[in-house]
Amino acid sequence: MATCPACKMDLDQVVAYVLEENKYLVDLDPFQTAFPNLLRWYSDESPVEGSTQKIVYSCPECKKMLLTEYADKKTETILKFLSGELKAVSVDNRIEFVKA
Ligand SMILES: [Zn+2]
Repeated sequence: MATCPACKMDLDQVVAYVLEENKYLVDLDPFQTAFPNLLRWYSDESPVEGSTQKIVYSCPECKKMLLTEYADKKTETILKFLSGELKAVSVDNRIEFVKA
């Protein structure tokens, strides 16, 4: 079982904030008469799959940020953390993952 290094709660899940890159077109909404100059956002493309730029994993209990991963440097750290293969420890105010 994974344990949060900050609040010591046993975790069977983490929260993941995913930053994605999606393209929109933005213009002035021509049909908006009551509130002129409102922007209209739309896309001429379907959302792009696999456009993840960054994922921030955090503890669902205390919100402590556990790990940040970038699309070009994906690891299996969270998989190994949740499966108990790695444990998270606090070192100088940083979180490090070590063999459990
Ligand atoms: Zn926590």
